[in-house]
Amino acid sequence: MILYNSLGQTRQEFVPHTEGKVNMYTCGPTVYHYAHIGNLRTYIMEDVLEKYLRFAGYDVKRVMNITDVGHLTSDADTGEDKMLAGARREHKTVLEIAKFYTDAFFADCEKLNIKRPDVVEPATNCIDEFIEMISVLLEKGYAYIAGGNVYFDTSKLDSYYVFGNMNEDDLAVGVRDSVEEDENKRSKADFVLWFTKSKFDSQELKWESPWGLGYPGWHIECSSISCKHNGEYLDIHCGGIDNAFPHHTNEIAQSEAYLGHKWCKYWFHVLHLNDARGKMSKSKGDFLTVSLLESKGYNPIVYRMFCLQSHYRKPLTFTYDSLDNTATAYDKLIKRIAALSNDGTPDLQKAQPLIDSFKSALDNDLNTSLGLTCVYDVLKADVDDATKLYVIGELDKVLSLNLIGNEPFNKESDSAENEISSEIEELIEKRTKARLEKDWTTADAIRDKLKEMNVVLEDTKDGIKWHFENN
Ligand code: AMP
Ligand code: ZN
Repeated sequence: MILYNSLGQTRQEFVPHTEGKVNMYTCGPTVYHYAHIGNLRTYIMEDVLEKYLRFAGYDVKRVMNITDVGHLTSDADTGEDKMLAGARREHKTVLEIAKFYTDAFFADCEKLNIKRPDVVEPATNCIDEFIEMISVLLEKGYAYIAGGNVYFDTSKLDSYYVFGNMNEDDLAVGVRDSVEEDENKRSKADFVLWFTKSKFDSQELKWESPWGLGYPGWHIECSSISCKHNGEYLDIHCGGIDNAFPHHTNEIAQSEAYLGHKWCKYWFHVLHLNDARGKMSKSKGDFLTVSLLESKGYNPIVYRMFCLQSHYRKPLTFTYDSLDNTATAYDKLIKRIAALSNDGTPDLQKAQPLIDSFKSALDNDLNTSLGLTCVYDVLKADVDDATKLYVIGELDKVLSLNLIGNEPFNKESDSAENEISSEIEELIEKRTKARLEKDWTTADAIRDKLKEMNVVLEDTKDGIKWHFENN
């Protein structure tokens, strides 16, 4: 499998540390509010990656933390704990809101067919492990104490900006966040491992430590929880692209300083979901959730399909019009599949090439949009219904779109004859004809119509191929 690795910024052959086994870590949600559908885009794409690795035969162990302490409103270590702000907003305790929003997160995941990771660990469960890691960093000279806090000393590293596309002036936290700088830091890039002093003394949860009563910084939790459950060597670390810096950069700094060797081989970053105002963000307060989509009559699985229609490494813009197109496509697809007859036994020999072409799509840096087109190819293939159902069932182990045994969600939508792929193919044929006849007006109008349906055309040696692609 080829995966794009943010470390090195190239497409690379995926080779785990131990043959056949994959240790995978995912930054979990900060549970001070509902997850928005942007956060969930990241978790959907990570879920597809995990399921595809299993499908390809790997034994996967996936670990996720729950951030219930230490993630401050500013990445420059000077803000207030987001959990505290959430608790105040809702007149509850930090632990109450942590429980409420952790449950809400997993309820959303269930609706989107996102599998629960093998290990889910709240940061507040692992304070002893954080203290141990920080103590080792101090002993090894990678950390210092100033003004009551413990800081990681980035000047001790050969290379700090490991993802390569950053330069210190643009990205040093503090500069980026345009907030006042923490005077205790020897260098702008240094970051807090343990707080005992901050301007926000009302921090609700504090623990005893060798450095005084306090609480951990945000980054230490992921390094520590990953080492606790995945061991010293991690194969894939996932997260949204906003986490690459400073969070993942700091995780690498402290994990490798602690372990004394390279830690994680592949960094998988999902690009953002944007709305009309730009990047969707929890701190903006007013954001889109799965429940909101449901209240507007959408099946949450349609949002999953919407995400799969685009490559994870492209920013994706959410609009209701695009989601409506996906809802229509989904319904038509489900109708076509529901019309297949389940009599007979699948022909496994004929099934294999269909499964193989799905694998080559996903092997190519998780091309889910092409993977979806494979489902349409199966429906068109010259094999019996039982074989089609078998192959679609296999593909759905990864896509998780409830393709088999599902009732169309929107019963009023068009009839099965009006199926989406034949509609698209008819349009492509008409466009080809118009172009041959040099009727550019018709050809352009058809191209615009296809674009509206989120269909992208590609000229290949076997003729024109299409796939869905949201903008
Ligand atoms: P948080 O709950 O803020 O810690 O974020 C949870 C996950 O969602 C992290 O992996 C973030 O990088 C990711 N994320 C945040 N905003 C977006 C967005 N607009 N689109 C996609 N992923 C996002
Ligand atoms: Zn993390």
